[in-house]
Amino acid sequence: MNPNHALDRLKAGNHRYAHGEVSHHHQSISRMRVISAGQHPFAIILGCADSRVPPEIIFDQGLGDLFVIRVAGNILDDAILGSIEYAVEEFGTGLVLVLGHERCGAVAATLKHAEIPGHVSTLLKAIQPAVDRARDQPGDLLDNAVRANIQLVVAQLKCSMPVAKLVEAERLKIVGAQYNLDCGTVVMVA
Ligand SMILES: [Zn+2]
Repeated sequence: MNPNHALDRLKAGNHRYAHGEVSHHHQSISRMRVISAGQHPFAIILGCADSRVPPEIIFDQGLGDLFVIRVAGNILDDAILGSIEYAVEEFGTGLVLVLGHERCGAVAATLKHAEIPGHVSTLLKAIQPAVDRARDQPGDLLDNAVRANIQLVVAQLKCSMPVAKLVEAERLKIVGAQYNLDCGTVVMVA
């Protein structure tokens, strides 16, 4: 599917969801049988692990539609980048959408300089550049940091070599979006 059509399909699905008109399309046993032999997801979503932001639900999509990677703070690391490169190569998926959201706990913890034992520090370290960028911006610091984090992850993705080549050839589009927890809408921010 053409990257722009894929993005239109996500936007239309989110519009249905936010207006209480979900289709539950592709969520049946017959769909499961159709795709059991192979998948052709039309979009790759790198989203936050937050329980309130499940991509299949907020974009009103079903089985086999989205290749979803979720991690707190929707950050990028080598394993996540590998998953994205794999999906792009293997399925020819033309769209990657980085999905952040309002009041993200991982971004908020980074803002507070929280000292959390264990591996959480890996997440906070990845988000820190977004917090640094947001500090001088007018407006709400957490909201700005969430947006900066989405934009930085999109920029990082565009720099990754196999991905960059496909973007250059216009076979792949990489965009960033922010989910509004209060009204269910997704707004493009990158
Ligand atoms: Zn989050």
